[in-house]
Amino acid sequence: MIEVRQNLHTHTNFCDGKNTAEEMVLSAVEKGMTSIGFSGHALTPHDTSYCMSAENTIRYRDELLRLKDKYSGVISIYIGLEQDYYSVSPLIKTEYLIGSVHYVYKNGEHIPVDESRSIVESAVDRLYGGDIYSFLEDYYKTAANIYSRTKCDIVGHLDLPEKFNADDTLFDRNNSRYVLAYEYAVKELISNNCIFEINTGAMSRGYTKQPYPHSNILRKIAQLGGKITVSSDSHDVSTIDYSLTEMLTLSKECGFTEMYQFGKNGFYSVDI
Ligand SMILES: [Zn+2]
Ligand SMILES: [Zn+2]
Repeated sequence: MIEVRQNLHTHTNFCDGKNTAEEMVLSAVEKGMTSIGFSGHALTPHDTSYCMSAENTIRYRDELLRLKDKYSGVISIYIGLEQDYYSVSPLIKTEYLIGSVHYVYKNGEHIPVDESRSIVESAVDRLYGGDIYSFLEDYYKTAANIYSRTKCDIVGHLDLPEKFNADDTLFDRNNSRYVLAYEYAVKELISNNCIFEINTGAMSRGYTKQPYPHSNILRKIAQLGGKITVSSDSHDVSTIDYSLTEMLTLSKECGFTEMYQFGKNGFYSVDI
């Protein structure tokens, strides 16, 4: 089996990551990676707590251009953004985009999906009369439109609400309403030719034992002929390559025979 030596989902201290872009590059080199793509959080005007300001977005690109040059011949560096559904359009030129849904918009409120379980539960009580599946249906309706909204290449952490459901007590992932909701999003995004990332970010931070998306969803994506890549959603130097190669074993079990990587001429498939 091949080894994964690329990660396209990387954060820095320009947004909510802990390390500088250069520290992330040096750590990737040390770990034997051949390329690293940065995906700083694009500006979401309603919540600036975790994303890059407009000024920081410009600095981010300038710094990545400097690093591309400095480490040319050592490691390939790619410039991306993680566009939220509610982000402003990209403020800089990028080489690829990850499109992610971090909020469900309901009655004038942006409910953060991945901040804490209690925020999700209280919002579901307050805005959905306690019906978690209505909330999840709204989440996947938004996710289904992430390509039309952002023109993303990669769909980020498709089933983000699983972050607080490792013990299966927030919702039942086999509930027919939940299954229908994610299947709709999967079909829509495959018709948009998106690549789904298998994201180990919640595993490396101890929230779950499964990547995003859960293997149930991965099997559906494989069955419908969807494309995948693997990424760590890394926020610090210790997690850049977290379980990436292991995800290929899971991918094969779920029915995939290839995965996608990014190079200077764009995305290309690799047999796994
Ligand atoms: Zn994200
Ligand atoms: Zn991210």
